[in-house]
Amino acid sequence: MSMFQDIPVDVGVVYEGERIRRKDMQVELGGPDVKEKFELVRVKKADEVEDGKITLIGPDIKDMEEGKSYPLGIFIEVAGAKLDPELEGVIERRIHQYCNYIEGFMHLNQRYDIWIRLSKKSFQKGFNSFQLLGKVLHRLFKSELPIVEKLQITFITDPEKIKPIYDEALQIYEARDARARGLKDEEVDKFYGCVLCQSFAPTHCCVITPQRYSNCGAISWFDGRASASIDPKGPVFEIERGEILDPVKGEFSGVNEAVKKRTLGEVTQVWLYTAFGKPHTSCGCFEAVAFYIPEVDGFGIVHRGYPDVAVNGLPFSTIADSTAGGRQVDGFHGVSIEYMRSKKFLQADGGYTRVVWMPKEVKERVKNFIPAELVDKIATEEDAKTIDELKAFLEARGHPLVQRWKKEVEAVAEEAAAPVEVKEEAPEAVSTPTLTAATLPVTVGGVKIILKDAKIYAKKVIIRTVKSEKENKG
Ligand code: SF4
Repeated sequence: MSMFQDIPVDVGVVYEGERIRRKDMQVELGGPDVKEKFELVRVKKADEVEDGKITLIGPDIKDMEEGKSYPLGIFIEVAGAKLDPELEGVIERRIHQYCNYIEGFMHLNQRYDIWIRLSKKSFQKGFNSFQLLGKVLHRLFKSELPIVEKLQITFITDPEKIKPIYDEALQIYEARDARARGLKDEEVDKFYGCVLCQSFAPTHCCVITPQRYSNCGAISWFDGRASASIDPKGPVFEIERGEILDPVKGEFSGVNEAVKKRTLGEVTQVWLYTAFGKPHTSCGCFEAVAFYIPEVDGFGIVHRGYPDVAVNGLPFSTIADSTAGGRQVDGFHGVSIEYMRSKKFLQADGGYTRVVWMPKEVKERVKNFIPAELVDKIATEEDAKTIDELKAFLEARGHPLVQRWKKEVEAVAEEAAAPVEVKEEAPEAVSTPTLTAATLPVTVGGVKIILKDAKIYAKKVIIRTVKSEKENKG
């Protein structure tokens, strides 16, 4: 792109999806080691914005120590005759996209969770100042979103100065999210889709409804509507909701069609309010993951910033890897914090009656949306650090799942106590061959079925060698 001739590194869509490992990074801005980080866009009056002005409060990239992490606030003020505060969230989400166009510059996540890395290579090429980053962003915004007529950027890296603006940013995000609450999925005839993350997860398509916020937590239904209207050919698009095929699981004919089209047939069916069966896909920038804990038949939730291992002994990164990449994985489900405030949150799985554990920080944030009688029954890291501790906690607090375990145990006991009708068969049952396998491929009529974690009981096992098709034909 010739408009970046004065920038020492390349800028282009080809760099989207580029990952920078710790050993290759010059500096990290935001990320898990830093508490205060944010990106925020505000719509202002024309006379309040000086187009192209770039301000830095705090140390510049070149003054930062190699290999270290620093706080960062990216505050962008925009003005334009057609701009409306409703568009702030959508314009803000473009920061992610445009930053990733820069060679050797990686931007992950959104809002209060941004995580940026600059590569050593790009730094050595001369990309060493926020002035350069500001110039790239300014030019991209102006060329890609013509409704932005004026734009000024302030970068804040001073740890003292960032705090008050960070606190203000959190309030602004909350006000935005609150706007979309109250509207129900059944009341609208249009949803919105977003494929911005396909650069990282090619088969991912977010479906944004009033009651199912985008996975990244950055785009509400209102944001989706605003974005699709100003840039209909952009990554956010309208979805005709269509027929309600299943109101509990959240299946809609229009969603199935749109997702099929946008994932080129990879995903053909989506159930919006469940983590099982055909769950919504997860890209990589979800704010949290709901993970199924088979030992208690419930869900744990862990968020991106959680520094320890979750109650199942795994860190966020490992749990996230189990579901990221645009897949539909049973029992592992990328979610946003705002979706946890929705009445549809995991509705088909039991909602909060099925949730057993979450970090204290997340619980604080969603507390007012958890049914009052369940708040004290859901454990945090202060109550349980292992599955055994969790079980004990749930029993002591009388979590509704405990009743369910009891019923299951009773059912099994009843079954065991039931009279055996055909007595002669009993000895055979004891010696029934059992096959346990982590992965067991079975080939039937040209179709290979893979049974994972299978345990098979059979009265008789016959093992025969099978000739290959070629041999048979020959
Ligand atoms: S997580 Fe979803 S809504 Fe957010 S940017 Fe990615 S695709 Fe779009």
